[in-house]
Amino acid sequence: MSEWGSGQQRQRLPELLDVTSSGLGLLDEKMLLLVFRAANWDPFLLCTSARVCKRWADILKRVIWKEFCLSRAPKMVSHLLSGGRDGGIPGGWEPLGKLMFYCPGCHASNHFIAKTIPGHFVWKTKFSRTSGKQFLVPQCQADILYISKICEHLDNGDDDDLGLYRGIFRAFGTSKTRRMLLERGAKLEENELCPFCCDKVWSMNDARLVPPSAIKGLGAYEDNVEYFVCVNGHLHGMASLISASDSEFSAEE
Ligand SMILES: [Zn+2]
Ligand SMILES: [Zn+2]
Repeated sequence: MSEWGSGQQRQRLPELLDVTSSGLGLLDEKMLLLVFRAANWDPFLLCTSARVCKRWADILKRVIWKEFCLSRAPKMVSHLLSGGRDGGIPGGWEPLGKLMFYCPGCHASNHFIAKTIPGHFVWKTKFSRTSGKQFLVPQCQADILYISKICEHLDNGDDDDLGLYRGIFRAFGTSKTRRMLLERGAKLEENELCPFCCDKVWSMNDARLVPPSAIKGLGAYEDNVEYFVCVNGHLHGMASLISASDSEFSAEE
């Protein structure tokens, strides 16, 4: 019998509290997995826990965000993983997790005129690869792009209603879209970064890779659509939506 008593839990207490221990301390990966699983991989908890210490941040990046992504969109994530070369996700798990629950807002850019909208949390978003096809030019239809449902930011004043959307390419590194961006000599933007991985982005408008099907699918005005793709294959975009009063589908009575 140990000095801590006969119960197994009580025997392990010193080890659990020993944060300097390499494998059995409170910071142990398995322990964190159990805690976050019990919290259903709550993204708020994940974000705040990353600030506790570097070791927690590392475990979150490497293990916990992956579990979050698998829990929220298992089919999409499995499909994305099967397109990777080393069993990983380009850009990492944390940016993919952020893409699932964060609408990044928008601001004016070269091809987009609008007021600034701050980013915000989204509880649940559906991603569709069928909708993704609409955002690909005919030469790139073999690529696979998952696009979120539009997050509508309706305006009560004189400004346009805005639609924001985000997405991710599968196997972007070997995609036709990336090849076309490079062949066309598209330059990486100087004043825009990916809101998910903070890496550099291309403007699809500048590269003339916004097809009419994207504008139609969004229900947007032709001259005010923009989307960016980052070097890791994340997409974020914005569009001015045709208002109900301009549309034949007006539901006004
Ligand atoms: Zn939004
Ligand atoms: Zn990115």
